[in-house]
Amino acid sequence: MMSWRERYPAEVTCVRCLEVWESQELDRLLWCERCRALARNRAAGKGWWVGGGVAAALAAYIWFVVQPSDRIVGGWIGVTVAAFYLAARMAREIFYGVERVRNAPAVEALPPSERPPEGEDDEPPDDRPRVSFR
Ligand SMILES: [Zn+2]
Repeated sequence: MMSWRERYPAEVTCVRCLEVWESQELDRLLWCERCRALARNRAAGKGWWVGGGVAAALAAYIWFVVQPSDRIVGGWIGVTVAAFYLAARMAREIFYGVERVRNAPAVEALPPSERPPEGEDDEPPDDRPRVSFR
């Protein structure tokens, strides 16, 4: 059986960062491991904000509309925390899925002047400035 990888040469350029990788390090969309991790991290970061917004809206609804008695307010706090995690997780999956579907090229690419010197790019720091070509 012909696997999809065999249609590509041994070295393939990642569509996101435009760096050349061994073909087995890329996935079907030709994203390298690092670009997938970056997209996941970004999606998770945005997901927490959505979760926070949902939780805040829910907490306001509970506080002003439901007006729980002191006895059961702990239960409502639990509901709010659960909503926060669920909304953040769902939003993360959606953001990541959207990035995958859009598959925008070269969004992780760095201009040559900002590339780290050869051999020092094993662990890129997360706060490195990135340039988007969008
Ligand atoms: Zn990449």
